[in-house]
Amino acid sequence: MKRKAVYPGSFDPVTYGHIDIIKRSLEIFDEVVIAVLSNPQKNTLFTVEERVSLLKSATKDIKGVSVDSFHGLLVDYIGTKRCRVIIRGLRVLSDFEYEFQMALMNRKLSKDIEIIYMMPNESYTYLSSTLIKEIAKLGGNVGNFVPSAVEKALKRKIL
Ligand code: ADP
Repeated sequence: MKRKAVYPGSFDPVTYGHIDIIKRSLEIFDEVVIAVLSNPQKNTLFTVEERVSLLKSATKDIKGVSVDSFHGLLVDYIGTKRCRVIIRGLRVLSDFEYEFQMALMNRKLSKDIEIIYMMPNESYTYLSSTLIKEIAKLGGNVGNFVPSAVEKALKRKIL
């Protein structure tokens, strides 16, 4: 049987940090489903369709990846994918507190899931979608941190 995991997140927008985690996950799993959270309450720069499309273009040459979107509870979505493993990235200590809380809550909601945390290459530990959006808004160059399609999309959005 193929080993499968779901990598959920906002991906607003995808960065090289996310890509690093996707590639690491594929060292362990045959198939990784990137699941973009559609949450109208969260103020995102890109629509869920745009985030999915940017992820598809960023991962088109990586074998074993698919991109999907979901709304509602992650544990319910995982069930529909016939999968029980969630991948999350851990950068700095501040990620840990939030992830710890979410992990324990998800475990209460479903006993069937397991969450794996992965650390990116240290050059991506300071990288976040929020920071990228800030830099782009201020006219900075984000070419070293995001794929070129994302860089172009940021320019279109922000100008
Ligand atoms: P969320 O709103 O779910 O945190 P993000 O798109 O910010 O969505 O992040 C999705 C996942 O990717 C999270 O587990 C986050 O910790 C991880 N992540 C984000 N940026 C990086 C990065 N630079 N390196 C490693 N993991 C990252």
